[in-house]
Amino acid sequence: MKILKIETYILRVPLGNERFYSSQCAFPERNSMLVHIETDEGIDGWGEGGQYGPPEPVASCINDVLAKQLIGRDPLQPMVLWDEMYASTRDFGQKGTYIEAISAIDIALWDIMGKALGKPIYTLLGGAHRKSVPAYATGCYYRGEDPFDYRSNLHRLGEEAKGYVDAGFRMLKIKVGLLPIEQDLERAAAIRQAVGNDVKLFVDCNHSYNAFNAVKMISGLEKLGIVFVEEPVIPEDLEGYKYVRSKVNMAIACGECEYTRYGFKNLITAGCIDIAQPDICVCGGLSEWMKIMALAQAFGVWTIPHVWGSGIALAAALHAIATIPEFPHTANRVVTQNEPMVEYDRNPNPLRDLLLKEKFELVNGCVVVPAGPGLGVEIDRKILEKYLVRK
Ligand code: MG
Repeated sequence: MKILKIETYILRVPLGNERFYSSQCAFPERNSMLVHIETDEGIDGWGEGGQYGPPEPVASCINDVLAKQLIGRDPLQPMVLWDEMYASTRDFGQKGTYIEAISAIDIALWDIMGKALGKPIYTLLGGAHRKSVPAYATGCYYRGEDPFDYRSNLHRLGEEAKGYVDAGFRMLKIKVGLLPIEQDLERAAAIRQAVGNDVKLFVDCNHSYNAFNAVKMISGLEKLGIVFVEEPVIPEDLEGYKYVRSKVNMAIACGECEYTRYGFKNLITAGCIDIAQPDICVCGGLSEWMKIMALAQAFGVWTIPHVWGSGIALAAALHAIATIPEFPHTANRVVTQNEPMVEYDRNPNPLRDLLLKEKFELVNGCVVVPAGPGLGVEIDRKILEKYLVRK
């Protein structure tokens, strides 16, 4: 089998008045950079690269650099091609855009391999420990007419959180970091009150604090029974992570802004984190994710992928999570203790909800892993064309 054609698709959906904020920025749109690889045997594959940053540079890395290396090559060797792509871009890559481009291609190659062999990707990765994955809702961002007016948003925030529980979620990840610590603690307390004590809560700071303020924030959150706190300090600040981790009574998670085994090596071996959160569309794809998980496991660190993006990103993450062993093993798996969960973003995104012919529905708090060959999903061409801004 040979790679015949590689095309990128930049999809963009303006959110209008549905826009929302994290601690870092507004989200006025949802976008995704998809790659489509065709072969001479009629089998094709889809991948996705990057998160919410501008998708054009990622597409350019593929179109102007990587695709030229891959045309005519055998697609049934994703790790060989990964090593070649990484080696040829190392001097100007290593992190960021190039690795996001490699991630997209890698996912598409695994999709092709699964279709060629008639097996789901999780089987090719060694088999599934589970066929359906407990899901947590990601929501409770800053929104409303004035996202900075926390007091007027408290009621709406509680209603939003309760809506996730009513929809069947037993776990919820919320945002902090945009407002002063005291106000964000009030927001978190309002959410806890709205959902009750049985719902597991996680808190995402999007690296909004220095180490001192992170400790102050997390100490306040400890009273609310939060399971883990995500990105309390900037990903570059390994010393800050170590300091925070030594001072607080809460698991520390990080990794959506980190790349490859080499980036995670630093976070993990320095003792910065309890939970590694590589994003399959960012960290180097499924090939690299397996290496990151092995490295993390050897250091006693749990791996739970970060998920954002379209239905392709979600499908790739579900295959990856299906293969995570309970960590550590027990005869009775406990979600959030040793049974992994999938991040199910609940912010508006038609690229997640409509792009695939298959729909990811919540059943008993879990999302079913697609069982068809490859990613096990099919793109709805009408939706693809509707949101396509550049091919
Ligand atoms: Mg996050």
